[in-house]
Amino acid sequence: MALLQIAEPGQAQAPHQHRLAAGIDLGTTNSLVASVRSGRAETLPDEQGRHLLPSVVQYQKDLVQVGYNAKQAEMEDPLNTISSAKRLIGRGVDDISTLGNRLPYQFVQAHTTVPRIQTVAGEVSPVEVSAEILKVLAQRAEDTLDGELSGVVITVPAYFDEAQRQATKDAAKLAGLPVLRLLNEPTAAAVAYGLDKGAEGIHAIYDLGGGTFDISILRLNKGVFEVMATGGNSALGGDDFDRVLAEWIMQQAAIENDVGHAQLKRLMVAGCAAKEALSEADETVIHVQLEDGSYWQGLLQHTQFNELVDPLIKKTLIACRRAMRDAGISAEEVQEVVMVGGSTRVPRVREMVGELFGTQPLVDIDPDRVVAVGAALQADILAGNKPDDEMLLLDVIPLSLGIETMGGLTEKLINRNTTIPVARAQEFTTFKDGQTAMAIHVVQGERELVSDCRSLARFELRGIPPMVAGSARIRVTFAVDADGLLSVSAVEQSSGIQTSIEVKPSYGLTDNEIEIMLLESIAHASEDKLARSLREQQVEADRVIEALDAALVDDGDLLLNSEERQQVESALDKLRSVARATDQSIIKKAIEALEERCGFYVERRMNQSIQQAMSGHNVDEFE
Ligand code: ADP
Ligand code: MG
Repeated sequence: MALLQIAEPGQAQAPHQHRLAAGIDLGTTNSLVASVRSGRAETLPDEQGRHLLPSVVQYQKDLVQVGYNAKQAEMEDPLNTISSAKRLIGRGVDDISTLGNRLPYQFVQAHTTVPRIQTVAGEVSPVEVSAEILKVLAQRAEDTLDGELSGVVITVPAYFDEAQRQATKDAAKLAGLPVLRLLNEPTAAAVAYGLDKGAEGIHAIYDLGGGTFDISILRLNKGVFEVMATGGNSALGGDDFDRVLAEWIMQQAAIENDVGHAQLKRLMVAGCAAKEALSEADETVIHVQLEDGSYWQGLLQHTQFNELVDPLIKKTLIACRRAMRDAGISAEEVQEVVMVGGSTRVPRVREMVGELFGTQPLVDIDPDRVVAVGAALQADILAGNKPDDEMLLLDVIPLSLGIETMGGLTEKLINRNTTIPVARAQEFTTFKDGQTAMAIHVVQGERELVSDCRSLARFELRGIPPMVAGSARIRVTFAVDADGLLSVSAVEQSSGIQTSIEVKPSYGLTDNEIEIMLLESIAHASEDKLARSLREQQVEADRVIEALDAALVDDGDLLLNSEERQQVESALDKLRSVARATDQSIIKKAIEALEERCGFYVERRMNQSIQQAMSGHNVDEFE
């Protein structure tokens, strides 16, 4: 019954065949594509030399524009220009109201579960909008690399749930892109810095983008990144810096506070330009053309800018402290801090983050590009361009996977924190004589009893040839692919009949739920052990009863006189009466008593079968 490691499917690869692969950072504000060329991972620019692609799609009647052109159109054509698809992807219509009033689109009011936006080109879904962005990036990669992509790695926030991940994969499918796997953004950033090749330890990934802030605490353990905690603020980013600057300009220029959307946008664009300039210079001159045709100009000093944005940066630090608390670590335990996202270019951000963690943050790789670079490195490996020993395994199974065995017990096939992809097989057998079907119940969780775990799927293996209990050999294989999808197959070894099923193990489970299940398993460990051994004893009693019953039917009349038979049957009745006792020692004693009182019968049966075998032998040999 030992666990067997079996070969991972689809890993074999013809040597010396370089496959084109790319990493895509599908961002809320900006997206990028990167690839490994001559051993180096780099982001790929468009024809004008621009690496970033604004994640904005404008729908016109017969034309879809993506990127800079679409971003330009945003002000004049807000209803047909979608710039927040990532906030909506994989969400339900009910979630839209929770996203605040930042979305100026016309949502379709039909009875759909997925939000759809009305545009002049018809209704579009966030998945379709994302697919347009992916198409442009894939085309850029294929033009630059001069060939067809064999696969892509797309990054997603660590907190994305199964639905958001699935929707991202759907977008890739719609764009005609084979997805090698989805990768967590913080993991990609850590890979870009080669932290996966370094010493084991804890790292923080600080990602301040355009409209979102994410902090992730990762632990590198045996080459695998485990997400210890995530946190952040989905409504805090560079845009807020721009808004604060717009307000400052309004104050300086004595503009009324209740400006319209277009005027505010204009001021924010000016603020954004000033912010970006101040990442390089000590002061900058702001120019704004106002709505009424007038013109304003003013000087902004670095120190003044810092004062304005400090409260925003402090908010991110609060989220960092909370994430560290969730992970149960202190700032001193964090070895490296990786800076991700365009807004970490702001020197004040680097300074304050450095102070919090007491270490110089890593900034050598362009913070806009670092996620795409890590994704490209991973894509290169997954496409099979690296020898096997450099294979990175970055994700782990959050909860153990197993099947239900007799007595409602769980038998774990793959333990939690096992790296994926992985495949494990184990043999099981039948419980009853002549049993021709076996129910397979796939469960997830750490607890000993199936009733305390989460049920994932049930299926049946039918057509097992009738055999004596315990002699059928049913090999059950669990295989989890790189995206965490589980497939289970069962094969009866002598007949070769088989059946299989695919399940999504983490579907609908949030990190929180996983944590609760883990905590419960720890809290109930000793109680579970007792429950397990009781169940095992009960199952053993059932097995003995079953076997003895079958024997009596078989040869009871032949081998036993009526007095002996009575003796066997009364011992059997005794065991039957206590087989469901809740004190396992009572069951154990009854089994022992039965074995003692019926030992002679077992012996006779053995002698008889030996004789039969010998006589059979003789017949074969001499006839
Ligand atoms: P996302 O991950 O949300 O797609 P990005 O990582 O591309 O976003 O970050 C975009 C944000 O970075 C914008 O708010 C932009 O103004 C800001 N940004 C870009 N360059 C600079 C810079 N040099 N200084 C300050 N902020 C910058
Ligand atoms: Mg980003």
